[in-house]
Amino acid sequence: MSTTTGGQWLEGVFRAAEASHWCTRPYCTTCGTRDFRRAFWSGAAWQAGVATHGADPTQPRDFPSEFSVAECENILQALIEGLRLLPASRCATDGFRTIIYDIDPPFLRFGTPIDLDAELGDSPAGRMLARLRARSALRRERQAQREEFNSPEAAAERRRLRIGQRARDHEARQAETRRRNLLRVDTINSLAAQSVQERLSRFATDLSLNLDSVPMSLIPALDSDVDGIEPEVAAALIARIGRRRRGWGRLRQLLQRLIVSAPAAPASGRGRGTTTGGVAP
Ligand SMILES: [Zn+2]
Repeated sequence: MSTTTGGQWLEGVFRAAEASHWCTRPYCTTCGTRDFRRAFWSGAAWQAGVATHGADPTQPRDFPSEFSVAECENILQALIEGLRLLPASRCATDGFRTIIYDIDPPFLRFGTPIDLDAELGDSPAGRMLARLRARSALRRERQAQREEFNSPEAAAERRRLRIGQRARDHEARQAETRRRNLLRVDTINSLAAQSVQERLSRFATDLSLNLDSVPMSLIPALDSDVDGIEPEVAAALIARIGRRRRGWGRLRQLLQRLIVSAPAAPASGRGRGTTTGGVAP
């Protein structure tokens, strides 16, 4: 870099890093990015006309013990000048970030508050610095959100909401059960108010009626109950009763006997065909 002149010396450091395959990774835990950092700090000192006398500018403890405050500021200004003239392609690199992390915030390293953003201004390096700052601000914001989400208060709030939701779900289920029970009572009351014939017809045709919810006492059980029932209705009811037992099983037998003993007619003939085919006695 001593062969380059003016602010473009830093570009020479990047070229040397490429040619020598130096590690430029920020915060490299293996090599401390030592060759690259020594090169740009020494280059800046040379540009500033500051003799290093063997002091290693990559070591923060050498500032300011080995250099005067004015020398520190001059070295830093030389480095900032190098950054200002760095082409955009060099700014989107690990090496650029390594330099930024080394000097930012300048106050810590040099004991001199310097506004790096203002110094770099609208140069490619300044724009990249703004992007790095935005990125780290975003990271900090996400980190804060994670911490907020994981905080005991947030966890307690989520638990409180969960418990509230469970209570509301439970209440809704209970209300639905009450509604169904009321509906069932209404249905049973209306069935009880109907004549046996009406009830049998309803059992056969009202598909919204759940036969399993009908109390045994409302299922007709006498021969006389099914007297006069139409064979089509009897056949439909036998099909609906299916394989149900007890009160329904008894009613099915009554209906089947009725169909068998009915006088031959086109309608009863169809009914017999339907029932004996589909339903076991
Ligand atoms: Zn390394």
